[in-house]
Amino acid sequence: MGMALLEVRNARLYYATTKGVVKALDGVSFELNEGETLAVVGETGSGKSTLAKLLVRVWERNVALVDGEVYLEGREVLHMPEEEFRREIRWRKIAMVPQSSMNALNPVIKIGDQMIEPLLLQGMSKEEALKMAMDALEAVGLPRDTVNRYPHQLSGGMKQRVIIAMSIMAHPRIIILDEPTSALDVITQANIMNLLKRLKREFGLSYIFITHDLALASELADAVAIMYAGKIVEIGGAEDIYLDPRHPYTQGLISSVPTLRTDKALSFIPGEVPSLINPPPGCRFHPRCVFYRDRDYLKGLCDAKEPPEVEVEGKSSRKHVVSCWLYK
Ligand code: SF4
Repeated sequence: MGMALLEVRNARLYYATTKGVVKALDGVSFELNEGETLAVVGETGSGKSTLAKLLVRVWERNVALVDGEVYLEGREVLHMPEEEFRREIRWRKIAMVPQSSMNALNPVIKIGDQMIEPLLLQGMSKEEALKMAMDALEAVGLPRDTVNRYPHQLSGGMKQRVIIAMSIMAHPRIIILDEPTSALDVITQANIMNLLKRLKREFGLSYIFITHDLALASELADAVAIMYAGKIVEIGGAEDIYLDPRHPYTQGLISSVPTLRTDKALSFIPGEVPSLINPPPGCRFHPRCVFYRDRDYLKGLCDAKEPPEVEVEGKSSRKHVVSCWLYK
């Protein structure tokens, strides 16, 4: 296998707040292969949206630390000058469908003008940019003259198609989808998922699909990364994660989705997502982990030392890696 399309190494992103430094993303590494959909699954506060922001470099103003490396087609892009990133990478190589973005459309500006704004910023002519916008609208199943309409003239599903059209407009290789269907009803959600599958085939895209919904992720994912408290705790091929989860947190998540494991009663993981200002020492999941609670030999390990990354056996061609003392 060749070089990964995207390689993230030890990425960290911290925010400064009045209560202290929030370690929103704290040492995340993974690869995305060509043509792959990697689902990044986690609860609110797990760092999954922060990861999305890091990859397109749109972090909030109170950022305190951006660290690590991001290689896109072998080229480091996390630390390149912003001007260069804006001109060559954002939208053109890696685009994002941000969370609840359809509600962020400006009500008093025509769809077309909103779509072409990033392209104009890159120095493209208005005529050329409008053509790209119309092509993209057509590709997502909307009429070309949608460029002349205003957001309030469109349904929620149509607005989400506009946002997706924006993301593919400059022919990127990677699209980051941050909860792309969360604000939609079930039917529209299914339509959007089908659209995403079709676009991926047609344009040879690779996706990073960010969601809290494991069942939804299973529709699209080739690989799955599970995030907890700013870290990836388990990553592997989708079937390995769904059928043979190894991390206690992943196991809890999977068993709480009734459609994935119908033979199991609905369960949930007691306890709360920890603070990212003062995260628990050692494994951040240890205050909620039943293995830690029940097995004496884990005392002094899980609550004190960073868990090791262990490669476990899996069926998929992708490495199955879990960060947990149970497998050492
Ligand atoms: Fe549980 Fe320890 Fe594994 Fe963390 S490292 S998930 S506390 S067994």
